[in-house]
Amino acid sequence: MPTLRSLGLETLAFLLAATCAGCGTPETLLCDPCRRELRPSPVEVRTPRGRTVRAALTYQGVASRCIRRLKDEGETLLARPLGAALAAAVAESQRGTDAAAVPVPTSRSAFRRRGYRVPDLLIRRAGLRPLRALSAASTRRDQRGLGVDGRARNVRGSLRARLRGEGAPVILIDDVVTTGATIDEAARVLERAGFDVVAAVALAATPLHSGFPTDSSATRRK
Ligand SMILES: [Zn+2]
Repeated sequence: MPTLRSLGLETLAFLLAATCAGCGTPETLLCDPCRRELRPSPVEVRTPRGRTVRAALTYQGVASRCIRRLKDEGETLLARPLGAALAAAVAESQRGTDAAAVPVPTSRSAFRRRGYRVPDLLIRRAGLRPLRALSAASTRRDQRGLGVDGRARNVRGSLRARLRGEGAPVILIDDVVTTGATIDEAARVLERAGFDVVAAVALAATPLHSGFPTDSSATRRK
């Protein structure tokens, strides 16, 4: 049995080996300046079908590096500060209603690869309970590398409703919104199942999609 002392040393060893996800500073998972960069500064983007998605952050610089570390490198501790950013954007969209948070489902292959579902994890770290009203129906291709039309075609029919809504209000939640094609498809499937999709919220929106000038200083920073 590990003693408390040995666990403390393991934690210490872990922290000593860690580097800040945002800037690479050693001996921390997230330094204070980078943590401040994760304060939500919500932006609104439009999906191909004209639905508004509120994103807590713009997917660039520190935010994009932290999200990649969570999604691609298994650094689930980052779900806490990122979940806090998401919570603020969800609260803005909820406006006092009791709409449940429905995560956009991740593909089965992504779940197998990671062992966790990023949107669900973020929702829990935002202090909410995910309502898993959707599931991934088919083995769709990874959306990365596809353009607007390709993404829309790729997601068509890729999601299924697991529950009947009977008019229940829900907020759709995704991690990163690129073109918004997945949000459109998820909203379509939920509405056909009888849910009232009152808002869509993402942790981050890619700057290409939202039309922001890319922050070149952020990419130059080490
Ligand atoms: Zn940092």
